[in-house]
Amino acid sequence: MPDPVFEPDPATTPDPSKVKVLRGSPPGIRNAQVHYRAAGGILGRKTVPRSQAQSALLKYHDKDGYDQEQVMTLSEAEHFLREARTRAEAADVEEAARHAAVDLVCPHCKVRRQYAGAMSFMLGEMALMGGVKALSQDAVVQHAYRCPVCGSTEFFADGFLRHPIQ
Ligand SMILES: [Zn+2]
Repeated sequence: MPDPVFEPDPATTPDPSKVKVLRGSPPGIRNAQVHYRAAGGILGRKTVPRSQAQSALLKYHDKDGYDQEQVMTLSEAEHFLREARTRAEAADVEEAARHAAVDLVCPHCKVRRQYAGAMSFMLGEMALMGGVKALSQDAVVQHAYRCPVCGSTEFFADGFLRHPIQ
């Protein structure tokens, strides 16, 4: 099940006054929100449902984390949202293809290995006098898949695929 692209979900909230773009924004744009606006209110502009809007305001954080705002026409705002959805859907297709290419069947037993959770490892070496000497303070997170028959285990470093792989 892919992650949602927008909040609120357009299927349940067809006439939102504000849309958060959760993923699919162009490079350099983070935490994008489209606010629908019309004349009125103390500041001369108020947020209204899209069906009553005259313009839109895109708010986002740029690559350095600074707040940015850009006034848009309604059709520019729809274009921005449509492009985000297209990018997110392309990422979903790519992810599905990568997952399909991963074979989790145990080569010894021919049964599928099962997800055993994310585990943290410390890099270290055995010291001469016993015990373990840590080489790094950074824990390395690995997702483990274990064969239920022979116990052989395969690891995937965190940050590449979405786990557990379905
Ligand atoms: Zn096995």
